[in-house]
Amino acid sequence: MLPLERERFLDALRAVLGVAHVLHQPQDLAPYLTDWRKRYTGQALAVVLPGETAQVAAVVQLCALHGVGVVPQGGNTGLVGGATPDDRGEQIVLSTRRLNRIRSIDPAAGVLVAEAGCVLADVQQAADAQGMLFPLSLAAEGSCTIGGNLSTNAGGTAVLRYGNARDLCLGLEVVTAQGEVLDALNLLRKNNTGYSLRDLYVGAEGTLGIITAAALKLFPRPTAQITALAAVQDVAAAIALLGRAQSRLGCSLTGFELMSAHSLQLVQHHFPQMSLPFDLPSAWCVLLESSEVEGESQGRARLEALLEAAMEDGQIVTATVAQSLAQSRALWHLRESIPLAQAQEGLNIKHDIGVPLSRMVAFVESTAELVTQALPGARLVVFGHLGDGNLHYNVQAPQGADAARFLADHQTLCNRIVHDAAVACGGTFSAEHGVGQLKRDELQRYGNPVAVAQMRAIKRALDPRGLMNPGKLLPGEPPH
Ligand code: FAD
Repeated sequence: MLPLERERFLDALRAVLGVAHVLHQPQDLAPYLTDWRKRYTGQALAVVLPGETAQVAAVVQLCALHGVGVVPQGGNTGLVGGATPDDRGEQIVLSTRRLNRIRSIDPAAGVLVAEAGCVLADVQQAADAQGMLFPLSLAAEGSCTIGGNLSTNAGGTAVLRYGNARDLCLGLEVVTAQGEVLDALNLLRKNNTGYSLRDLYVGAEGTLGIITAAALKLFPRPTAQITALAAVQDVAAAIALLGRAQSRLGCSLTGFELMSAHSLQLVQHHFPQMSLPFDLPSAWCVLLESSEVEGESQGRARLEALLEAAMEDGQIVTATVAQSLAQSRALWHLRESIPLAQAQEGLNIKHDIGVPLSRMVAFVESTAELVTQALPGARLVVFGHLGDGNLHYNVQAPQGADAARFLADHQTLCNRIVHDAAVACGGTFSAEHGVGQLKRDELQRYGNPVAVAQMRAIKRALDPRGLMNPGKLLPGEPPH
């Protein structure tokens, strides 16, 4: 963009949003230009902070007029570089941080309408204040936003019982690529009237339009959450325990997380104030959570009986059941600290694979062998939502090695090994975090060609000029 047009464009943005909400000084832009993992840093013409839907629409209209790409950004906790602009400085970042009102809560209907920039933890608290539960929960919940959660179709720790972000959404308000407001804030549980546009925008990673508000499903708040940590010999034992827990606990089973002993040791190393309830006697641990609506003591008795029976059958080596909310939180804190401990340990090669449970053991065993053969000394940090068939299969540089060098030299080979193995097992290279810019080429490589062609057709139909989050998700899209 020529300097004169650039000034005209910035002036027009200021006229819509007010001077304070159009950032363009380097020190103001900086926090919006690097992703959470610090893998990507881009440049931007400006960062804009609209405070209402009409302002988002006006900004998008201006971008359409000037041919400027728009990168939507919520809490900037995404793990695939989806909210970071490219490095040409020709795009704007549209931050939803000021779109942070809860518009309504109807506990009787179990519906909450939140603007896209509401922080997930605030939505959980608003539901809680009405005696209800908004069950989406993930370690980034203090920063990530509803818009980002929906745009990445976030999963988290309670998918087993409540589903992904998509399953928790009844309807959306979206600003389209043309700057129109699509009011599809459906509050109905049943509404079969043509294509589900909601399902297009959920998981689109900002490439089709900007979500400005969402109608979200609420659930009765459990009266008790009972958490247990169990050490298991291997992944096969963890899967057997999952089957047992599902049949004994039914819908009460809300969380089932697998963690390698190595990932917990990393947490202990970097956060020594966090203690494990037992010395790790085996290579794997499982975190189980049961949520009860009918009294804690019955639920606790059921979970303890389940664990005792599993121990008698040799599925569990040792286990502990949290005796208080504080103990339960401490167990979850261990799990949620694994990504943070990994970040402290240094750059690592991350994978977010999904594999059918029936092939999980084969995947874990064969991939460990292949990775350690190809990269001697590499450390596997494996953890995740086993109940959903989703593991974070991360590879850390050998002890003492230069992590950045390791990443640069071995990422491609490592991705090939892990993603080939997941796909060979009938799985996916992207179970939870999305595609963004990190996995764009993987979509080209592993995506079903018919599906990718249809995605391109949808993109062309809804965003013919390619101005919505350019260069993300779809491989080989022209830059804007
Ligand atoms: P951002 O990072 O700001 O954006 C993510 C993507 O959505 C980008 O492509 C962006 O352009 C787009 N976007 C953002 N807002 C909008 C909008 N309003 N309209 C259109 N597009 C938009 N993810 C999981 O699924 N499960 C987990 O368990 C999980 N755990 C995590 C733990 C940690 C410690 C961290 C750092 C991340 C974790 N994540 C997890 C990934 C991430 O937090 C989630 O994907 C989250 O949903 C992103 O929300 P955000 O507001 O930060 O989005």
